[in-house]
Amino acid sequence: MKISNTKDSVEYNLNTLIFQNSIPFEEVFCHSEFDSKDLKGSGIQMKESFREKLIELNKLTEKRYKINSGYRTIRHNRRVGGVTHSNHLKGLAVDISIRNSADRYRIIWAALQVGFTQIGIGKTFIHIGLDHNNNKTPRIWLY
Ligand SMILES: [Zn+2]
Repeated sequence: MKISNTKDSVEYNLNTLIFQNSIPFEEVFCHSEFDSKDLKGSGIQMKESFREKLIELNKLTEKRYKINSGYRTIRHNRRVGGVTHSNHLKGLAVDISIRNSADRYRIIWAALQVGFTQIGIGKTFIHIGLDHNNNKTPRIWLY
């Protein structure tokens, strides 16, 4: 009985600690920033694991970047020419707007630190994504 209580209390403290150290997503980003352009409120579909990493990335870059594209409905993904199995459809990718090569470096560096495994480099944006099942090889591609 005593051992079980101790274990519970350790787990409780650990959860409290994790909670206190994490910043709620809402304080860093608005869900609407991630809305599919054709569906208001859909930004909420971004996966929790992805959101946590995005907050980490934001902390590392110490700069707020504009999100060009977050969650996408199938219709919107088709319209913008996204690939059929795009991680945008799963709430596991964003395109971050960049203005110059220093931004590009900073985001790629931070994305790798944080553990994003799917990175696409465009002239004016960086796609950062996660593979849901972790069965895709980490990769970087160009547009
Ligand atoms: Zn993208």
